[in-house]
Amino acid sequence: MHVIVLGAGIAGSLIAQKLARATSYQITVVDQADGPATQTSDHQLALVHPQVSKKSTKLQRFTQIANRIVWQNFQPSIRYAGVYQPILKEDWVNCETLSELILTLGFNLSEIEPLESKAALEKLNINRPGLWFNTSGIYDLKKLSTQAIETLTHHEIIWGEKVIRIQKNNDLWQLYNNKNEKICEGDALVLASNYQTKELLASIEVELPLRPVRGQLSRFIIPKESYVGKHLPWSATRGDGYCSPAKEWDPENWLWEVGSSYDEDIDVLMPSKESASANQKKGFALLGIAERPEYNFLEQSNFVGIRSASKDRLPLIGPVNGQSGLFLATAYGSRGLIWATLGAELINAYLATFFAGTDFLAAGFLTAGFAGEDLTTLEVELSSAVSPSRFFAGALGARTSNSKPTFPSGFKER
Ligand SMILES: Cc1cc2nc3c(=O)[nH]c(=O)nc-3n(C[C@H](O)[C@H](O)[C@H](O)COP(=O)(O)OP(=O)(O)OC[C@H]3O[C@@H](n4cnc5c(N)ncnc54)[C@H](O)[C@@H]3O)c2cc1C
Repeated sequence: MHVIVLGAGIAGSLIAQKLARATSYQITVVDQADGPATQTSDHQLALVHPQVSKKSTKLQRFTQIANRIVWQNFQPSIRYAGVYQPILKEDWVNCETLSELILTLGFNLSEIEPLESKAALEKLNINRPGLWFNTSGIYDLKKLSTQAIETLTHHEIIWGEKVIRIQKNNDLWQLYNNKNEKICEGDALVLASNYQTKELLASIEVELPLRPVRGQLSRFIIPKESYVGKHLPWSATRGDGYCSPAKEWDPENWLWEVGSSYDEDIDVLMPSKESASANQKKGFALLGIAERPEYNFLEQSNFVGIRSASKDRLPLIGPVNGQSGLFLATAYGSRGLIWATLGAELINAYLATFFAGTDFLAAGFLTAGFAGEDLTTLEVELSSAVSPSRFFAGALGARTSNSKPTFPSGFKER
């Protein structure tokens, strides 16, 4: 059982690590770069937190469970622990009512705690009421990808090979480079190649509805004695955009990182001044600071990356209709680590199904580490919500035999 994972960003690295730990498959990771996470996952400021809204939604529950898995698995390498989400004054009620809501949504108060303005000012230097996410934080995707790849000591890693096309031959998936040389072949192929997955699927005449979304993250140097310098937060903060806590740059200045632009249908990596000034605006809004000309800071450096997104902004994780042994793990958008974590569990479960020759995903793939909780319904909802077949059904469904999403026995598609 030989599985090829194409792409060593956070998506492919976590899948390969999961497979290496949980299975006896032979694994080959292929990437065009000379090492892990050189593209969009070359990103050291990935915020991870559960989505919270007044009513329980599927997205809220997926992100809640993923946040717990991320915290369990990666907390030792977290960059900044804790995230604050200020709430607009007009939406703020009081701590008691919010605590009840948090419990109703299935969180506990050691995960999310409401804070009045005064408490937030004392704890975080932010004079706004809001929610404190105690078990969330900012992670370094490059570091996590590198650590995951380093666990593959008994497996093959092929660096520096750009795959131009894929094809299936004698039940094996084959990868070819631009000299039309075969790079490798395996029983199953997982495409974790972000936006470039679109081109690779085009080589087998499958059209993938994937869009590029450019993003720029700005690093500003702020004088400590300036008005803004005195109001920078002491924790990661999120709302419309997000920012890092103030970090010592030199004795006179703070480093403050703010993101991110979300520029749909743009795949240009060039940094732009417009994105930098939009980021500064977002940062001030998060802190509740009014804009003033004297607060204009020059972007000291930046990170620009291309995310990929599907039409409904949910990822594409699962089998490709009618292409037995071909799986996608892409379109992670702005929730790279959340989906990479769930994607690794889901792809592992799909591969078990594929190699067992059955039609049903075995229940229980999310439960590791959550003894006592029945996550079966959530697993069904997750596999269905992110299944690539939601886009392929119309276009390709007619000529596919294995086009149905697979569910644990006893469950029907919703
Ligand atoms: C500005 C910005 C801010 C963000 N903020 C956050 C955040 O706060 N929290 C969060 O969780 N996420 C965030 N994200 C999203 C996150 O960075 C991405 O979702 C994630 O990095 C995508 O990982 P990936 O592995 O799918 O893609 P990539 O990291 O791009 O990896 C794809 C890999 O596939 C390889 N590859 C592709 N095509 C081929 C080919 N043909 N042949 C060989 N190799 C190939 C590439 O070399 C690359 O290594 C942000 C993104 C941006 C741009």
